[in-house]
Amino acid sequence: MKIGVLSTNRELYSTRRLVEAGEERGHKMRVINHKRCYMNITSHNPGVHYKGDSIDGLDAIIPRIGASVSFYGTAVVRQFEMMGVYSVNESVAITRSRDKLRALQLLSRKGIGMPVTGFANSPDDTNDLLKFVGGAPVVVKLLEGTQGVGVVLAETHKAAESVIEAFRGLKAEFMVQEFIKEAGGSDIRAFVVGDKVVASMKRTGKEGEFRSNLHRGGSAKVIKITPEERSTAVRSARVMGLNVAGVDMLRSNHGPVVMEVNSSPGLEGIENATGKDVAALIIEFIEKNSKFGKTRTRGKG
Ligand code: ADP
Repeated sequence: MKIGVLSTNRELYSTRRLVEAGEERGHKMRVINHKRCYMNITSHNPGVHYKGDSIDGLDAIIPRIGASVSFYGTAVVRQFEMMGVYSVNESVAITRSRDKLRALQLLSRKGIGMPVTGFANSPDDTNDLLKFVGGAPVVVKLLEGTQGVGVVLAETHKAAESVIEAFRGLKAEFMVQEFIKEAGGSDIRAFVVGDKVVASMKRTGKEGEFRSNLHRGGSAKVIKITPEERSTAVRSARVMGLNVAGVDMLRSNHGPVVMEVNSSPGLEGIENATGKDVAALIIEFIEKNSKFGKTRTRGKG
């Protein structure tokens, strides 16, 4: 098969591993920088152009779209879908999971456990909003944040009010969440491919840090997850419509709660922690499932 990896940098671990795994399995792999693609959307014959040439003949794409280029990146994925190219994660699913609030709303509709979460627009709602999530301590999160940036633990009511006031002053969208203290600064990343969790790790924040993000100095180790955590992860990916997803959960007193479903989950942390060849499992999934024109939305979303 001819498989395109949409990535802004071919040197990134995840990009390199996908190319390597694809070549090992006999495919022709091509890295395409989606930021440098341009598209023809006026004709009846949609196309994607890159460095002066049109990109033809791809059987499948693997989007690795960073949060900062979601808008343009998903437009390029959509264009490939319109051309009938199979995308392992579709543009609509990527967009859904990128909006933290929308994602949580969709998950709650399907009864998936999550931290009690509040969202409001007007400054006079602050007190009620805090009461609603059970009062301080609370976690205040910027909707646009990634890698733990803009995730604040407010230990007292006063601190929570100040943080909320500051975010409002900056016109930033945020949500307020019950603090899952019993998670003890650790979370679980379950890596889903198709309808299976293929690898999972426990991430723990460095001393004195409640955020477990690896980019913030957290460490990861392999973990055996419970059947309930497994089914929560698989269902969450399915609700988002993602075939490949990193589902982040906390272990709460009332079972697993989902914080986020990531549509371009990194491979480095999970492969190193578990020793599994996750890249090969993604390629294998594409081999089994990719078909010309097999997109649920054909770029209509
Ligand atoms: P990002 O998408 O920026 O990584 P997250 O929502 O995943 O933001 O939060 C970053 C980290 O903060 C999580 O991995 C987790 O360790 C911690 N965290 C987030 N929300 C909560 C919460 N409600 N209770 C306890 N810890 C949390």
